[in-house]
Amino acid sequence: MTMTDGKVLLEVNNLKQYFPIKGGVLGRTVNQVKAVDDISFVIHEGETLSIVGESGCGKSTTGRSIMRLEKPTGGQIIYNGEDLFALSKKEMRRRRGDIQIIFQDPYASLNPRRTVFQTIDEAMTIQKVGDKSNRRQDIGELLKTVGIGEHQMNLYPHQFSGGQRQRIGIARALSVRPKLIICDEAVSALDVSIQAQVLNLLKDLQRRFKLTYIFISHDLGVVRHISDRIIVMYLGKIMEISDQKSLFNNPGHPYTYALLSSIPSTKMDEKKARVILHGDVPSPVNPPTGCPFHTRCPYVFDQCVSEKPVFYQIGENQSAACHLLKNGKVEFKNMKSPG
Ligand code: SF4
Repeated sequence: MTMTDGKVLLEVNNLKQYFPIKGGVLGRTVNQVKAVDDISFVIHEGETLSIVGESGCGKSTTGRSIMRLEKPTGGQIIYNGEDLFALSKKEMRRRRGDIQIIFQDPYASLNPRRTVFQTIDEAMTIQKVGDKSNRRQDIGELLKTVGIGEHQMNLYPHQFSGGQRQRIGIARALSVRPKLIICDEAVSALDVSIQAQVLNLLKDLQRRFKLTYIFISHDLGVVRHISDRIIVMYLGKIMEISDQKSLFNNPGHPYTYALLSSIPSTKMDEKKARVILHGDVPSPVNPPTGCPFHTRCPYVFDQCVSEKPVFYQIGENQSAACHLLKNGKVEFKNMKSPG
């Protein structure tokens, strides 16, 4: 059984998250940043779905929209059959027990004036989890699960290392017994050796507690180790959705191919395969016409400038939005890159 055979836990339909740009004396909306622009995907129970892309591609905004930390501009998010955007604030607070988020900077997300015990106790009290009288024991167990000593529960965040603080962030997320955890650049601030430990911990916890992860990262090297499926985003849009193996062995979209080329350790044909992306990501205020990637794509042709590509199914669990795929999958390494 593959992960995509599992029950759909979360469905994102045509999600749009625009942020207004105010201007003039009256502070009217003069333009919009299209941080997330009409994206759709599903997540299955027990899978790890990663969202990757350069900074500003909309991956973190997508995570925040799912948590309803932003007021959505449009679309639907269906969690376990329930439309999250239709819930009142109070109802959404209850749902937050099911969906948790772990941020990049554990220090910023932990209150420096609260001990580890107080931090986790507060989360459990708000979500009405467990019995108050067993709190010390429950939190001690939880800390042991993430590799922190029970005796450390009365310490403050500054008394821990970066890796330990992230473990505490994970313990806090787990304390309310979530089903879905959004890891937003959760290991990006950690040293490589600590990254590996935290990734292994996340995998272990997933098996033990049947967790589903959305793993948001700019680092394809990290994503490779944790993902079942991967979404590649660019300028607020999805370029490719693929299972991990197909994406790394045979990417379907020129942008994915270019991102993979930039990882030094990938087993790609050195001379033919490398595609260097030139220039910066264009502004999401005035995204390019047609294919959003056309200003940087080495394979651009006329149609790309005028027409938005549709998604083409190019494998059992792989689809991508590129005009080149109209007649099936393309081997990018055999194509000439003007870059
Ligand atoms: Fe490149 Fe055109 Fe494909 Fe966009 S549609 S990725 S510009 S070839």
